[in-house]
Amino acid sequence: MKIIMLGAPGAGKGTQAKMLSDKFSIPHISTGDIFRANIKEGTELGKKAKAYMDAGGLVPDELTVDLVIDRIGKDDCVNGYILDGFPRTLNQAHKLSEALAESGDIDCAVNVDVPDEAIIERMSGRRVCPSCGASYHIVNIPTKVEGICDRCGAEVIQRADDLPETVKKRLSVYHEQTQPLIDYYKGLGREADVDGTQSMQAVFEAIVACLEG
Ligand code: AMP
Repeated sequence: MKIIMLGAPGAGKGTQAKMLSDKFSIPHISTGDIFRANIKEGTELGKKAKAYMDAGGLVPDELTVDLVIDRIGKDDCVNGYILDGFPRTLNQAHKLSEALAESGDIDCAVNVDVPDEAIIERMSGRRVCPSCGASYHIVNIPTKVEGICDRCGAEVIQRADDLPETVKKRLSVYHEQTQPLIDYYKGLGREADVDGTQSMQAVFEAIVACLEG
């Protein structure tokens, strides 16, 4: 099963993608995670991507598309995969469709729908562990000890791209560049809308119902 997670940054795509990856035993491929890993390792790609990410913009397609096309060609993707954060532009979607021309396009683009106000509230409260990757929210999913990761004891941080001004910029980039993909996949008859304001479990069940229905 080839799945795309659509939705604004902070809509919960990553969380749902992880849950779907466990349920269907297919890899979760997050372009944001790949870029962040490259930044941490100090690679050339990481250095180039960081400036765009910190400013709330998109990393250029020429640094993004081949990376994903290569990744989905790996052996662990033969039974499918979940793309989280890709495609993000119509050009990326077209390139993906071209790459999948022989094997068949994706099965479903799941649009996790959350209004902007809720996104801003969620993202400004988000904290992540730079060491193990665990994700928290100062109100909804607080750490047991303030500021300290429950899982590994490292100090949790706010991602530079979760700062309020950057969040606003990321939302406007989303509306301009990524939202048109909803219509693109609707046109292919492969899009499903899910109300992302529900509980994590309810969102998950709604997505599974779409995929299995
Ligand atoms: P995410 O973790 O998916 O919110 O991604 C974090 C940041 O990585 C985004 O704000 C972009 O700067 C960059 N990024 C992730 N995926 C893509 C993509 N498909 N195209 C361009 N930039 C991306």
